[in-house]
Amino acid sequence: MKVAAKLEAIQQQIADACFKVHRNPEEVRLIAVTKYVSTKRAQEALDAGVCELGENRDDGLLEKWSLLKDKPVWHFIGSLQTRKVKNIIDKIDYIHSLDRISLAEEIQKRSPKKIKCLVQVNVSGEESKHGLHPDEVIPFIEQLQAFDKIGIVGLMTMAPLTNDEEVLRNCFRLLRELREQVKARQFAFAPCDHLSMGMSNDFHIAVEEGATMVRIGTALVGEDEERVTK
Ligand SMILES: *Cc1c(COP(=O)(O)O)cnc(C)c1O
Repeated sequence: MKVAAKLEAIQQQIADACFKVHRNPEEVRLIAVTKYVSTKRAQEALDAGVCELGENRDDGLLEKWSLLKDKPVWHFIGSLQTRKVKNIIDKIDYIHSLDRISLAEEIQKRSPKKIKCLVQVNVSGEESKHGLHPDEVIPFIEQLQAFDKIGIVGLMTMAPLTNDEEVLRNCFRLLRELREQVKARQFAFAPCDHLSMGMSNDFHIAVEEGATMVRIGTALVGEDEERVTK
């Protein structure tokens, strides 16, 4: 199936989920995750009307960044090694995976401009997942006050791999509650309006629970094309 047709179906699912909970679909931004696919496929997504792309590795990002003829909004969504920051920092608009002070320090040192960051939270507590424990999030954000290159615009999580809707819903709900706690602090450097949650399998639930950014790969650009093995 063409990306355009998949995009239309996904936008409809987002609209349906919003309708259920009385949200405005315009509050939900769709990030096309192109990590598995070619630059050509990423271009097809842009041609279909996508304007935000996500990559989880520096090499994948750099390749698409240099080859795409359009300039989308770029989201770095994967765990970011400190030594890789300098390669990508001037090419991206958002980092979804801020999870440690050493990374914040490197961003502060290398970024030419203030960069929008989301703090990654390991809500489910799975050991394989990156991110801060929910209890660590507010103390962590408080420490970032002095970093004038970092704006905390939201929280991000990856839900556990399960089809159990209640487990997914609870995970997303916890992230939203945590965001409310951060917002209540009214830090000028951390407006924390965004909730980056929901992927191909669970975005409809994430949207019902308040997601403002969904990160969709497989369901939008995947399947037809052989996956690039990395
Ligand atoms: C790969 C990836 C996605 C997209 O996953 P799909 O299941 O293919 O939609 C979203 N977020 C992160 C952090 C990812 O690494």
